[in-house]
Amino acid sequence: MELPGQMMYAPMLLSSILEQAARHSAEVEIVSRRVEGDVHRYTYRDCHTRSKQLAQALDARGIGAGDRIGTLAWNGYRHMELYFGVSGIGAVCHTINPRLFPEQIVYIINHSRDRFVFFDASFASLVEQIAALCPHVEKWVMLCDEAALPNAFAVPLESYETLIAGHDGHFTWPSFDERQAALLCYTSGTTGDPKGVLYSHRSITLMCYGSALPDTLALSATETIAPVVPMFHVNAWGLPFSATLVGAKLVLPGAKLDGESLCSLFEQEGVTMSAGVPTVWLGFVDYMRRTGKTSTTFRRAVVGGAACPPHLAAAMAEVGVKAVHAWGMTELSPLGTVCSGSRGYAGKSAEEQAAIEAKQGRAVPGIDLKIVGSDGAELPWDGQSAGDLMARGHWVADRYFGAEHSALDDGWFPTGDVATIDPDGYMHITDRSKDVIKSGGEWISSIELENIAMSHPEIEKAACIACAHPKWDERPLIVAVRREGSSVSARDVLDFYAGKVAKWCVPDDIVFVDDLPLTATGKVQKLTLRQRFGGYFLA
Ligand code: ADP
Repeated sequence: MELPGQMMYAPMLLSSILEQAARHSAEVEIVSRRVEGDVHRYTYRDCHTRSKQLAQALDARGIGAGDRIGTLAWNGYRHMELYFGVSGIGAVCHTINPRLFPEQIVYIINHSRDRFVFFDASFASLVEQIAALCPHVEKWVMLCDEAALPNAFAVPLESYETLIAGHDGHFTWPSFDERQAALLCYTSGTTGDPKGVLYSHRSITLMCYGSALPDTLALSATETIAPVVPMFHVNAWGLPFSATLVGAKLVLPGAKLDGESLCSLFEQEGVTMSAGVPTVWLGFVDYMRRTGKTSTTFRRAVVGGAACPPHLAAAMAEVGVKAVHAWGMTELSPLGTVCSGSRGYAGKSAEEQAAIEAKQGRAVPGIDLKIVGSDGAELPWDGQSAGDLMARGHWVADRYFGAEHSALDDGWFPTGDVATIDPDGYMHITDRSKDVIKSGGEWISSIELENIAMSHPEIEKAACIACAHPKWDERPLIVAVRREGSSVSARDVLDFYAGKVAKWCVPDDIVFVDDLPLTATGKVQKLTLRQRFGGYFLA
């Protein structure tokens, strides 16, 4: 006969994470560099009070459970209040990526039927451009005080500070089912329309516990954490929640993510760890190198969203920062793997350890992974067999927002990535399945080839794409950007591959461009490169 456990039950709600911080880490600071240019600081206690003021204001205006509230905002304290205040009343905080094309933003706002949209002043002209195309939005709220509102605007506006001002923060968070939706984020839709992933209170809370663990992101109350990854990109990888969970000091960098801005903010606030995509860290180390600076407090940077090239990890080590490789995706909230120690790791040589650190890492507890072949059968964890990567776990999407059918394949989410897994469980992404180069029946990893190009001292950036080939179906082409002042030739770069990969994997050619196109989340837009150079070997 079943015997229920006899422990207290409290639903895992995001409001309880903030409440915990407001009680147990009340005086710990949240520091924000505002789009206005100044630095704002307050505490978890203040954040809690203002999030409750916002909850009261939304409640008073008829926003309730399940309603979607859009945000177009950088990382800052008002965005934190939206994360907690909106989800706290059972409504859904829909973070919109402002770097998408305006048509995509309109599509997303209309698809999710956002009732209110909150936006930073820096997105005012974007809002003027799209407001008339979003008929369901009842209210546009600018994240500023009354005095900063523009005099003339395309639609009626309200200021955030006025919206929350009439409320006192004496509010008890409602209790509801932890499986209710809390936040909504759309994938960037590099192919087809963007698709929404609807996170629940439970899924985000469990990911926060999983991400705080020592072999995951090792979060602690003693750290000062700066999420550089935007809060509109998969909830800044959960850091606004997980840092609050452990009561760490938070530093929110606002709109300026160049090397100089980050370095000065990190030094000023004593930032110890951060997280962002490789392009951000490339800019950071470039600035540090040019100015001869090293970090005094900043020690760990989580690098994810795209593969961390080994030369980047080495350059970061030179300026005193350890790169921690992580892999994930919007559908995984996003944390899937983190590359950190394991029982076998400590006994390995420095060279072997570096090879491990180039991998994307081991599954975060709570996530399970497998690789499968074209017949769907599971492949061995031998570090050699590459197959389609599948994931399942507490914070993996089941279906897309509004979709009729589950996205799962026999209970597993197909990630669209191709990977190997070694006997110690370290997963290594060799490619996205649509980027892999299929040459005469063999698969060539585009990531491996571009990493080699980028380790050439005269190459600043590189991407490897598959180009149609009359004999081999597809062959690899490197599209590269030379370092300033360099005139390195294609031949020089091709010679650089000797001994690094099998002869048949060496790219067929290198083309040089002034810059590489980036997606809205800062990754190289390979689709655009394929459209431009896909017929290169046919010409
Ligand atoms: P989008 O799919 O719209 O680009 P995501 O942020 O969800 O947005 O991207 C997830 C994908 O990014 C993964 O499926 C994977 O291909 C890639 N990715 C993320 N982290 C890494 C990493 N550390 N190494 C290689 N690829 C990565």
